This record gives sequence, C-alpha cells and structure tokens, in this order.
Amino acid sequence: WAATSPEALAVIHAGDGSAASRNEPDNADRLTYADLDALVDDLARRLSTLGVCPGTHVATLLNTGLPFITVVHALGRLGAVLVPLNVRLTGGELSGHCERVGVETLLCDAEQVEQATAVAEELDIDLTIGRVDDEHGNGESADTDPVRVWSHDPADSLPRVERSPADRRLVLFTSGTTGKPKAVPLTTGNLVASAVGSAFRLGVVPDDRWLCALPMYHMGGLAPVFRSTLYGTCVVLQSTFDAEYTPAVARTHEVTGLSLVPTMLARILDGDADLPDSLRFVLLGGGRADPVLVERADSAGVPVCPTYGMTETASQIATARPAEAVAHEGTVGRPLLGTDVSIVDEQGTPVEAGDVGEVVVSGPTVTPGYLDDAVTERSFGPRGLHTGDLGYRDDGNRLWITGRRSDRIVTGGENVDPVEVREALCSHPAVADAAVVGLDDEEWGERVGALVVVSDGETAELERPDSEALRAYCRDRLAGYKLPRTIEFADALPRTPSGTVDRTAVQVRLGNPE
Ligand code: ATP
Ligand code: MG
Repeated sequence: WAATSPEALAVIHAGDGSAASRNEPDNADRLTYADLDALVDDLARRLSTLGVCPGTHVATLLNTGLPFITVVHALGRLGAVLVPLNVRLTGGELSGHCERVGVETLLCDAEQVEQATAVAEELDIDLTIGRVDDEHGNGESADTDPVRVWSHDPADSLPRVERSPADRRLVLFTSGTTGKPKAVPLTTGNLVASAVGSAFRLGVVPDDRWLCALPMYHMGGLAPVFRSTLYGTCVVLQSTFDAEYTPAVARTHEVTGLSLVPTMLARILDGDADLPDSLRFVLLGGGRADPVLVERADSAGVPVCPTYGMTETASQIATARPAEAVAHEGTVGRPLLGTDVSIVDEQGTPVEAGDVGEVVVSGPTVTPGYLDDAVTERSFGPRGLHTGDLGYRDDGNRLWITGRRSDRIVTGGENVDPVEVREALCSHPAVADAAVVGLDDEEWGERVGALVVVSDGETAELERPDSEALRAYCRDRLAGYKLPRTIEFADALPRTPSGTVDRTAVQVRLGNPE
C-alpha cells in the first residue's frame, strides 16, 4: 500500500487516554502509508543489526502506540515472530512466558524498562533487551542499560526474506480463563485467512477506520492492526478504553468499525456519549453478549455484530450481521468464509441441529498446533480443534454458544448449565451481574455457587435482596438442584485482563481452596 496509496492514512493514535488528552480527541499522531513504510524500514534495518532474523522470537513489553505498530510490521519484514506480552503480568509470569516460547529479544519502552531488565535477570538464556520508544536516544547509557534500538546503526540493506503462508508470524497467550494460559502460534496464512473471512462478513471500503481500544497483546486488539494494513485502510489506536473518551475518539475520527467486549458496550450505552453515525459495525466479542445488550444497542442505532472467536483461530470464528443478531436472539451468526464448525457429542459424533454439543472448528484460520505438543494432542481431533465451548446451531447454520464444557456443574449426578442459573439471577431487577460456578462439595461432588453484583440504581436501594430472597426468587424459575446453595455479593466480578470472568477467582471467593 505504501507504493499504491502512499498518502492514505495508515494509523491514527488518539492520545493516551489520560485526563489531559481526553478533552482533545483530535490531538492525535497520524502516519500515512509512506510514513509507516519509512519507519518500518528503518526499524527493521536496526533490528537486523541486533541479530533479529527469520524465525527469531521477539517479545514486546509495549503499551498501545506507534512504536508498537512499527515493531509489528518491522518483525514481519524481517520474517521474525512477534510475541506480545501483557504489560500487567508479574516478572515471574513474564519470564515464564519468555522461557516457554524461547524468546531471544525483548523490546520495551521507557515505562517497561525496569520490568524488562528484571525479566532478563531471571532467565538463564541470553536475552537482548531493546528500547524502541526513544527515537533520539543519545546512546550514553550505562552498560547494563538496554540497547536503544533507534540509536543503533541501521544495516545498509535488508536481507531478502523468502516468505510462505506457513511461516510463524505470532505467538499469543490465551486468556487463561480455564487454567494456565496456552501459547498459540499463528502463521501469516492464519492472519490473512482471518482478514479475508472477516472482510466477506463485514465488508471493506477504502475509507474504513477501525478503532481498537482492546489491548494489543490479545488477538482482538491485534486483528484490526493486521487487517487494516492488508486492506490498505486506517487503524485508530487508543491506549485505554473509556466509556466517554472512546465514543469521542470514534466521532472525531469518523470511525467506521469498532471492536469491543460486551462490558465496554454496556458502559457506553449506560453513559451519555453517542457513537458516531459513520459506524458500519461494532464487533462485539471476547465473551457472551447478553441478548438484552444487543437489543439495547440496536434501539440506540448501534450496528452491533455479536462474534464468537478465540486466540487459536486468529479471532473470529462466527459473526452475526446487525439485522441477523436482532432477528435471531442470542446468535453469534454463521461461521466466516472458509471456517468449518461441527457440533459434536462426547464421542465426537456430529449432533442434530438444535442439540447442544462441543464446538469443533477447522479451516485456514486455525493454529497449526499449540506450542505444547501435549496440549495439541488432546485438543485436536479428526474434525479439527475442540474448542471446549458448548453450543448448537439452527437449520440455517447459525451458531449459539451456551457456555464452556468445563463450566458445566455436576451436582449429585445432575448437569447444571451455569448460564441458565445466571440468567435466572440476572432477571431479578436488582441484580446487575452474576457469575455462577461449581464449588467443591463433599456430599454432592459439586454444588452451585453464585457471586452477585447488585445494581446501584434507585430500585436497588428499596429492595436490595439478600441471599435468601434471591434463592426464593430463583425457586420459581429453576429446578431445586439448580438453585445456588452459596450466594455472596461483590461490587464487581473478578475478570481476566481480556475481560472474561475469572471463574477460578470466583470459586476461591466463594470458598473453594486456592
Ligand atoms: P483459556 O483458553 O486460557 O482458558 P480463553 O479461552 O478465555 O482462555 P481466549 O482465546 O481469549 O482465551 O477466549 C476465547 C474464548 O472466549 C472462547 O473459547 C469462548 O469460551 C469465549 N467466547 C468468545 N466469544 C464468545 C461468545 N460470543 N459467546 C460466548 N463465549 C465466547
Ligand atoms: Mg480457550
């Protein structure tokens, strides 16, 4: 695109979300495709002299911003593998991740330099740390300081890199909702197939601007970055989500696409800030979107596209278009072009339309396998990747996701679907949100537990229920064995960094041993 439309905007970085920048969403850094190309070329030549070459695994400890985008593309140009790390992890977690992936170089910015140095010290392997934020670094740092990549001499030219769709381009970690985060390699082919499938569902026009307020160490945050540069369109970056500032940025920059997790959309709709008319789609993913939320968004004129996806499939598996999402309550739509979904029983045999089973997915977006062979071994079957998610489809191949297999509670031999219990609790006018989990129980194997967030509206003041009142309310809606035996209250549900409810933390909170 740098050759075809050098003056087209490639990236807008709309401030850091700080209070100061919030009033001026127009105060943004902009890069055209020509600018981006020049920066990427320069950085790639400097990284090349640091020894980064095809297949080198380069981790990043970077916040959302232009250096991050430049690194993403420079590594692509060198044929190296990007391993974006979550800046909020602890030193031990970070060095564990680096070790598992075999990271050779770690790129950071001023804010993360201490963290990066600590990680390097904990590792046995030799790790080069580079700082990529400081373009004008004077290189007068002490020997122990990380290399300032920008002040390093660039190589005169870049070696020619042979590329193939099968090349590893990324290693990402899953959110860790069900256990230890899994390391997922994704190839160039996975990312291209994902961009193509998404474009067939959502459309692409040359003036598209895709705003992403999700973290960049997560597939949901990275997808718009890769896709925009494949489409030749513009990605709008925002460091942190804010229920007022994010819509303001979307209005100022006439954004056409927006990626959000359901809690973010709920907060925008709860607030006063309007989303712009320029929006063609709001991609709603990362977790289950409540039909009530979809309906609210639709009434507010927000073109909402409920999406089912995962790290292992380079994001979207299925996406509903706005009209479809409203007409077929709760659906996540049809699989993307090229993606095949089967719904299977415990034996791996496909079930009839309407019957719930495990979602198995195959196609060009699916990772060639986890980094850990043992995980690959138990996750892939003859029909593809077993997602661990439960769902069903209708005769039109539309999908519904009902929960995770591992979330199913078995109490006294009876299966309880936590989503059903959660919906019963949430239908109470004073309940804003709830998480329903299985708790260890000597007598029943497991018992149903619920952590409940009470809404802070006026009605709640009048009739704030206690656990006994909530159980009585549920008794009219649920069979006896499904009733939550343990109910506790919290101001908010514990969540993983990518926004999913941290079910293990909920279980601990409700009394399970850690
Ligand atoms: P881990 O695999 O480490 O337990 P994770 O599965 O939460 O973590 P991600 O890859 O970030 O890690 O999330 C993908 C999962 O999110 C899906 O497998 C599914 O369980 C859930 N999910 C995504 N979209 C939806 C949706 N629309 N409805 C219900 N669940 C969803
Ligand atoms: Mg998962």
